[in-house]
Amino acid sequence: MRDFIFRRKGICFSLVILGGCLLALLRCAPAPKILPTREVPVEPTIRVAVVQGEEEVRFRCTSDFWAVSPAGEILFDSGTAEEVWRVRLKFGQPADLVYGLVLYEEHRQEEAGKHVQRLAEQGWKCNILTVGEAIRIGQRVINDNRQYWVFLGPYVTREQAAAYRDRLPDDALGRIIPELAGPPLGALDLIDPAGAVVFSSGESFALVKKDPAGLFTLEEVTIGRGYAWERQENRTYRGGLVFQLGNDGKVLCIDEVDLEQYIKGVLPKEMSPGFPAAALRAQAIAARSYTLARWGIQHRLDPFHLCAEVHCQAYAGVGQEDERTNAAVEETRGQVLMYRDRICETYYSAVCGGHSEGNQNVWGGTALDYLQGAYDLPPDQIPYWNVSLQDGGEELDRWIQAEPPAFCNHRFTEAPRATHYTRKYFRWETTYGRGELEEIIRNKLGIEIGYLLDIIPLERGVSGRCMSVRILGDEDEAVIEGELNIRRALSPNHLHSSCFLVTRRMGEDGLPESFTFRGAGWGHGVGMCQAGAAGMALKGYRTEEILQHYYRGTELRRLYGIISL
Ligand SMILES: [Zn+2]
Ligand SMILES: [Zn+2]
Repeated sequence: MRDFIFRRKGICFSLVILGGCLLALLRCAPAPKILPTREVPVEPTIRVAVVQGEEEVRFRCTSDFWAVSPAGEILFDSGTAEEVWRVRLKFGQPADLVYGLVLYEEHRQEEAGKHVQRLAEQGWKCNILTVGEAIRIGQRVINDNRQYWVFLGPYVTREQAAAYRDRLPDDALGRIIPELAGPPLGALDLIDPAGAVVFSSGESFALVKKDPAGLFTLEEVTIGRGYAWERQENRTYRGGLVFQLGNDGKVLCIDEVDLEQYIKGVLPKEMSPGFPAAALRAQAIAARSYTLARWGIQHRLDPFHLCAEVHCQAYAGVGQEDERTNAAVEETRGQVLMYRDRICETYYSAVCGGHSEGNQNVWGGTALDYLQGAYDLPPDQIPYWNVSLQDGGEELDRWIQAEPPAFCNHRFTEAPRATHYTRKYFRWETTYGRGELEEIIRNKLGIEIGYLLDIIPLERGVSGRCMSVRILGDEDEAVIEGELNIRRALSPNHLHSSCFLVTRRMGEDGLPESFTFRGAGWGHGVGMCQAGAAGMALKGYRTEEILQHYYRGTELRRLYGIISL
């Protein structure tokens, strides 16, 4: 039913443009015989969660507005401009969740069907979950990112699902996921500037601007909930707003916005507008491709496509747009990276440290050909640096100490000021006293290991990033698995990356006195290295060459552009 609103909006939008053309014709005399050709941008509309988990949301609009039900009925027609309105949770309870295991992820339904049949012969009864969707502009499908997941379950608790893990076939993923067993229940109130409840609704409702050029501002939106940078900000959006109950039983606010406008709100949050233009264009194409590839997959159970946090992509609405990043979006309009017949999952991170990492090493799952680790070095440098970083021994030590001339090494280049902040992440060092690190581990892992004796990397990816680390104490020990878990467990916030070597300074009592982490890079290191993209652009590489370097074997394609009316 929600689609109805989209179609209505689409028709309204076209009528406004057509009306504009006719008005222009009336004003001009004599009237031309043929309607002037007018370029009209046409693109998908994305639903981005801009507020989640609140009891109340305050907003203003520069235009008067309607409130419209999912069936398209006008619930209320006299929303006033420039006054503060509110949406408040009347009551709400979260969705009911159950749990199951994903055994295989396939791009083709018939491949998933073969797994189900083979498993049935072994006594497992599995289903196929369809994830993702065919994204359309009007009737035209521009991207079909559907995946077919072989699913075992559901079970009432996560623990019950986990109990089946050890009995699965060896090649099965065994990833535990929630499923919705029942929707969230509750109602939201729309409250006018005088404090009166205008209506209560258990369904979603959209706020539609009477002037399509109007802007909604949400007041004191919580940004980065649960992160070190949590704060409140006013945020302004170009799209229409939809309010409904989230799966957490709280107020959810969605910005329904044209995809290119969304990318304009993402770009300045994900890359400094002071980076060179070719790097900004590469970032625009990566952000657009990522959006279309993960559309409907990233938040499978939620009534929106992506959230506005770093979990998906940071999105700040219209308020932080910059003409340099806007130009990068406009110059690459509709362009995405393809690998075979799929839009690429164009992950990116801040500073790879000189070598990127394979996606399967960081997040598990299927290795993607275009996301395999490689040197972030000019081609003529690679023969000099052909070292094995995965073993973590002397060669990694040399690599970290030597500061190779990688594209993301801005320490020796005449780089613009905007890239200077990356210098402290290319190579870094952190030292903790033993007691301090014991306390961090206690707080982060909730375990008591006694005196911390050693930290021993057990497994590394191709970039030297640790994937598994043993923490050895005199009373107990623990193994931490996963790049992000390791970074979280060994720092009050996050270590810059999991590509590090640990050295101990021993005290006279025979116990370690301190631990020093010497590391490379900032972030997971999968896909495009943003500091490296800037470095390549400064050396004169073009946008296409930057993308080819970080996403090997991919092809640049324009999915949509400008059409004539
Ligand atoms: Zn998200
Ligand atoms: Zn790099």
